[in-house]
Amino acid sequence: MEEKFVVYENWRVSPKKVMVHKSICGQANKDHSIGEKINDNWLINVHEPNDRWFGYFNSLHEAISFSALLPNRELKLCGHCLKDFKNSL
Ligand SMILES: [Zn+2]
Repeated sequence: MEEKFVVYENWRVSPKKVMVHKSICGQANKDHSIGEKINDNWLINVHEPNDRWFGYFNSLHEAISFSALLPNRELKLCGHCLKDFKNSL
């Protein structure tokens, strides 16, 4: 399966954050599958009170670059699905 990435934004936690995941990550698919949580409305029409998901990104670099565009958010990489990548930094 081709590897895709997703971005999770949460503005009710402190600090406000964005976290990058692989689309197959168990954390990203908790409660509902990631496909159900991603809206195609991107940065407009925010209906969610706490958080939202963005995707799909074709590379980790693309997901990180997008995350950096979201203002006032601490950028994090998932400690589960991107653990190997984090350790290689
Ligand atoms: Zn993850």
